[in-house]
Amino acid sequence: MPQYNFLCRACKKEFSKILTLSEHEKGKIVCPHCKSKDVEQRWAAFYAVTSKKI
Ligand SMILES: [Zn+2]
Repeated sequence: MPQYNFLCRACKKEFSKILTLSEHEKGKIVCPHCKSKDVEQRWAAFYAVTSKKI
């Protein structure tokens, strides 16, 4: 399963999560540090960046 890296815009901490594609598509990513949903994805190498807004 792919691991995704994220940066929280609220607390500026980075974290990683292993998500299924369906979980990722739903966009329910929450910062484990401050519970903010304002997270930015840091793309892993094997996925192309899309312009889709999270
Ligand atoms: Zn945070």
